[in-house]
Amino acid sequence: MVTVFVAMGSNLGQPQQQLTDALACLDGLDAVRVLKCSSFYRSKPAGPQDQPDYINAVLRLETTLAPLDLLDQMQAIETRQGRIRGGIRWGPRTLDLDLLLYGDAEITNERLSVPHPELQNRDFVLIPLAEIAPDLVIPGLGPVSVLVGRTRPSGLERLA
Ligand code: ATP
Ligand code: MG
Ligand code: MG
Repeated sequence: MVTVFVAMGSNLGQPQQQLTDALACLDGLDAVRVLKCSSFYRSKPAGPQDQPDYINAVLRLETTLAPLDLLDQMQAIETRQGRIRGGIRWGPRTLDLDLLLYGDAEITNERLSVPHPELQNRDFVLIPLAEIAPDLVIPGLGPVSVLVGRTRPSGLERLA
């Protein structure tokens, strides 16, 4: 079993429901168990500004899947939930599932960079991650608490 953190984001088609459905789909996989979900957060779009706000959350899960097999499963869930690929970079989407951390592995290949390369720049990832794993130390980057202290606040709003 490997401990994995996954970031979820959505800004189309009932975003909160998209995240809830994605959690259930991941947990429904034989080789995956979802252990924790952060609060949901509302964030301003990171890419083009002329799109709806996002809802974001981070999951902690355990899996026996290899990293690329997990990515395949995550992308299949994105597709099932209406994600259309090939639009503008960081454009609107029904569901984005990003693999933040896979145990303490550092992975670089054509399909996968882990830790996720934007992790340290995104408060909408770091803050929910620190919420569910406050003592986490990120391979190559250090304690999540230190990274949170360094991020520029972007108006992230924690939902009740
Ligand atoms: P960003 O990764 O900056 O958040 P994005 O999530 O919008 O951007 P996608 O369109 O979802 O990007 O994914 C583009 C490609 O990124 C995927 O096809 C996948 O192979 C690759 N990728 C590389 N590293 C990761 C990772 N850690 N998690 C998910 N996808 C990754
Ligand atoms: Mg993403
Ligand atoms: Mg993605």
